Amino acid sequence: MKQINQSGWKPGTPAARDDAQDFPTATGNKALMLEEPLIFEIGGADTCGVDLPKLDVAAPNRLGALARKGKLGLPGLSEPETVRHYTRLSRQNYAIDVGLFPLGSCTMKHNPRLNEKVARMPGFADVHPLQPVDTVQGALGVIDELSHWLITLTNMTAVAMSPKAGAHGELCGILCIRAALEARGDAREVVLVPESAHGTNPATAAFAGYKVENIPATAEGRVDLDALTTRLGPDVAAVMITNPNTCGLFERDMKAISDAVHEAGGLVYCDGANFNAIMGRVRPGDLGVDAMHINLHKTFSTPHGGGGPGSGPVVLSAALAPFAPLPFVSRLDDGLLHLVEEETMADEHSSSFGRMTAFHGQMGMFTRALTYILSHGADGLRQASGDAVLNANYVLRQLQDVLHAPFGASGPCMHEAMFGDAGFAEGFSTLDLAKGLIDEGYHPMTVYFPLVVHGAMLIEPTETESKAGIDQFILAMRSLAERAKEGDERLKTAPHHAPRARLDEARAARKPRLTWANKEG
Ligand SMILES: *Cc1c(COP(=O)(O)O)cnc(C)c1O
Repeated sequence: MKQINQSGWKPGTPAARDDAQDFPTATGNKALMLEEPLIFEIGGADTCGVDLPKLDVAAPNRLGALARKGKLGLPGLSEPETVRHYTRLSRQNYAIDVGLFPLGSCTMKHNPRLNEKVARMPGFADVHPLQPVDTVQGALGVIDELSHWLITLTNMTAVAMSPKAGAHGELCGILCIRAALEARGDAREVVLVPESAHGTNPATAAFAGYKVENIPATAEGRVDLDALTTRLGPDVAAVMITNPNTCGLFERDMKAISDAVHEAGGLVYCDGANFNAIMGRVRPGDLGVDAMHINLHKTFSTPHGGGGPGSGPVVLSAALAPFAPLPFVSRLDDGLLHLVEEETMADEHSSSFGRMTAFHGQMGMFTRALTYILSHGADGLRQASGDAVLNANYVLRQLQDVLHAPFGASGPCMHEAMFGDAGFAEGFSTLDLAKGLIDEGYHPMTVYFPLVVHGAMLIEPTETESKAGIDQFILAMRSLAERAKEGDERLKTAPHHAPRARLDEARAARKPRLTWANKEG
């Protein structure tokens, strides 16, 4: 454990103790870092967490032949044992509330506590999706007002609020595009995806039944405009472009690309998960985009990670608005806000392609995102994106003398800084550096993505880190980069201070042991 004297602490103060190896503990615990067995190992299948009196009557059999014959096999734990188990596990987790989370493309910004307070208000938290609409006008009002601001920020015509993640939003957008093309009797088969696009883009297009074709990136990390325009033709349904792209760069040719795609009869999907870099500064509608998802759980600070709830509203151009999925919020003749659930409820939307989800989307994320937008205001949102870009450029410039920055000469980066493994000593890899970062007390950055850079490291500090916090991260990165370049063998076996050393990741992915083998059968 690091021991830090808060009063005199500066980034980089040497504080780690190196005598820990000389004092092995009997429990395996390391100070407050506790070993935690599986729940089945704490409470065996034969133990019970509560004392129940013995039955003094014959147990009635209400299930007949369906009654269970074998043991249930669940662990028996008391309440305090259960609470401690999960609390200890939670302490082994890294989270944005613990420290800087540099995971590129994920926008791990601070989740303001004001958002949480509003989301927990009973009028939002305790409503049921099947409640009569006149009892949930406030909640529907939140969806309606958030829609308004998302449309305003992007200068688009409509927004589909129900998609529950970025990738889900992509599917929504592509299904709108397919519905629009089918409506004009124009069956097209190909979706073009640049190399600099997020991996979910080709996956979405393929899932929707399209043939995916790659468009190469230029040496400076942007879409090759010539290659793209040359490939356009009557078989191309859409282009899916991530902007800012996964190299952390703004696609400057976006308007020219959109014009060319429209000219060729196709539609433009923009992956807007990186909107945090341009929010309040660039409106995708001005660049000719037809559909774009926004990750509320990235740009608008709703919590994410660990499979937590996401929300991926999709803004749509006038060409795609009629095909938006059901349901959507609309003020009807009775003066009330309604969830329009059936096509017949709204004539002008009779071309809807269908539904994405059972209800209307992630209410808890809507309240948080709207709170974030209203508490920042127009100037605050603009400053947030500016600070996010500033922080990423600070990281880029502070590290580019020790780490290879493949696009360092392509001008400023957007909200994330990209590095590669060129210059590492023979046999040292990006993985070694990432594991070393765990020893330094950080969640690793995004690694080996995108594929256009060898040994890619994508770092996104976001706007919510202080300069002192970023300086300490830079210090850790510089030290690790030097180790990788000098060939410090100990880096190859990092992490050394984590509860577990380096795992066999291939085996963990290919042959995971996901069930506990009950030894008693
Ligand atoms: C995060 C991300 C996605 C996918 O969003 P999910 O909510 O994880 O489905 C898509 N594209 C980009 C560029 C992203 O960063």
